[in-house]
Amino acid sequence: MAYVICEPCIDVKDKACLPTCPCDCIIEGDRQMYIDPEVCIDCAACFEACPTQAIFLDAEVPEHWRLFIELNGRMTGKTG
Ligand code: SF4
Repeated sequence: MAYVICEPCIDVKDKACLPTCPCDCIIEGDRQMYIDPEVCIDCAACFEACPTQAIFLDAEVPEHWRLFIELNGRMTGKTG
C-alpha cells in the first residue's frame, strides 16, 4: 500500500506535503508532485496536509484517477 498524488495537484504543487513526509519519498515533477510507492510507509501525514485533497491511499483512489497509481510509480522510477 502507498499513498498516491492525483489530478488536483497538477499545476498547483502547493508542496505542503513535502515537509511532512518522514521518508522523503515525495518528489517534484514538471506539473505535479509524486510519491514513491516503494518507500511510502502509509503514515498519512501528506494526506492530512494537502490543501487540494489530491492525495489518496492507493486502494481508495477514485475510479477516474486510477491512472495516477501507475503514474506515481513510473515518475518516481520504481515501477513500469
Ligand atoms: Fe510520505 Fe507518509 Fe505521505 Fe507516504 S503517507 S508519502 S510516507 S507522508
